[in-house]
Amino acid sequence: MTTGPGLATVERADVVVVGAGPGGAAAAAHLAGRGHDVVVLEKDRFPRDKVCGDGLTPRVVKELLDLGLTDEAHGRVPGWATQRGLRIHGGSTVMELPWPTLDDWPNWGATATRKIFDETIARHAQARGAHLVEGVAATGPVWRDGSESRVAGVAWRDGEGNQGEVRAPVVIAADGAGGPLAKHLGSPRRPERPMAVAARTYYRSPRSDDQWISSFLDLTDAGGNLLSGYGWVFPLDDGTINVGLGLLSTSKEFRSVSYRKLLESWATGIADDFGTTEDSRTDRIRSGPIPMGFNRTPLHQRGVLLVGDSGGMVNPFNGEGISYAMEAAALAADVVDGAMTTKRTADLDRYDQLLRQRWGGYYTLGKVFSELVGNPTVMHICTTYGMPYRPLMELVFKLMAHLTDREPADAKDVIINTLQRLAPAA
Ligand SMILES: Cc1cc2nc3c(=O)[nH]c(=O)nc-3n(C[C@H](O)[C@H](O)[C@H](O)COP(=O)(O)OP(=O)(O)OC[C@H]3O[C@@H](n4cnc5c(N)ncnc54)[C@H](O)[C@@H]3O)c2cc1C
Repeated sequence: MTTGPGLATVERADVVVVGAGPGGAAAAAHLAGRGHDVVVLEKDRFPRDKVCGDGLTPRVVKELLDLGLTDEAHGRVPGWATQRGLRIHGGSTVMELPWPTLDDWPNWGATATRKIFDETIARHAQARGAHLVEGVAATGPVWRDGSESRVAGVAWRDGEGNQGEVRAPVVIAADGAGGPLAKHLGSPRRPERPMAVAARTYYRSPRSDDQWISSFLDLTDAGGNLLSGYGWVFPLDDGTINVGLGLLSTSKEFRSVSYRKLLESWATGIADDFGTTEDSRTDRIRSGPIPMGFNRTPLHQRGVLLVGDSGGMVNPFNGEGISYAMEAAALAADVVDGAMTTKRTADLDRYDQLLRQRWGGYYTLGKVFSELVGNPTVMHICTTYGMPYRPLMELVFKLMAHLTDREPADAKDVIINTLQRLAPAA
């Protein structure tokens, strides 16, 4: 029997993906591209917003190119823009740092609202053959046996009260920072891992065609005290800019501050440069959590793979999470594809191992960084004395953006790669 959302009450697939954000949609696109039968459940309907800065670093551009979304990656489609690099403001210094030219990564970044970005990837997955079902929420895992030792799919419910199951031997949980499915599995957040909260809004601006994304390191509260976080201005293709700020959980104001008030007053402070007046604001201020540095593990258990924010995969240095969700999705697709060939479900454990090998050391460095800059004095020293030195800033930029070559020709890459290798994996 087929029910309201176009799903049989009991549907069968090779893989069921929960959530069609960048992680889930990319996983579905990769798996469908390899001929697997994939069902994607998304609780919302496209086009839908997701609270975000809308900034796409060269790591995301690479994922777009790998998926064949070439025109979007080059900003040749309405709604998509490209930029040359980062204009960083700190202390009395303003410095433009182009995205580095490397063998492994493109040397440009992009922006697109999440309304556009997420739907593009989701429709791409659909075009490759994934069965995308919108307006249907997964409500929990279905188990293969009473002992809950292996997943056999997920249960779902739609807005009209229809319910059913998608049965599949593998579940990809890409359901975002709340991690509803991971919670069902009993995977708690790791409290020692960093978190951030960020808020964003949009303004019409004469600077929407800026060739640089901007970041500001001198965030202060109403009393003028320096805060541990940063503000951003990201230009968009539609005549607006995305303006936001975020604070790290290591800063003492993390829980007490009003993110809305902070953003309002900070945006007013940059209005002369960016036109960020209340009259030009086009959206309300919304905020969201940013789970970092693998703050939920294991990344695979009992046939469920966590992808993106559900596994807390955001980069602790800069709050970037889209690329990590998409890269994890590509790896998940590889590992699932392999396990389906060998028919050994234990092979799915490789996902957790490979991901920790890939990013574990880097995330450990990020945790140390977040603890250091959680102290405003350290932050002040860094912005005042470090900022003016271009070679130092180039190194810091590469480190924070996680952009080096695997086989480096540049001394900065050698330093960063060595640090990552020596740091114990998170
Ligand atoms: C204010 C802010 C600014 C940010 N700025 C940036 C930035 O500029 N660049 C960047 O790279 N990262 C940024 N991030 C981080 C980025 O938004 C996330 O890391 C990224 O969205 C993670 O993608 P995801 O696919 O894992 O999860 P999500 O994008 O959260 O997608 C999860 C999807 O799952 C769906 N879902 C949830 N529960 C269910 C369910 N039970 N059943 C079915 N579907 C479900 C949701 O509706 C959603 O579509 C920012 C975050 C915040 C809060």
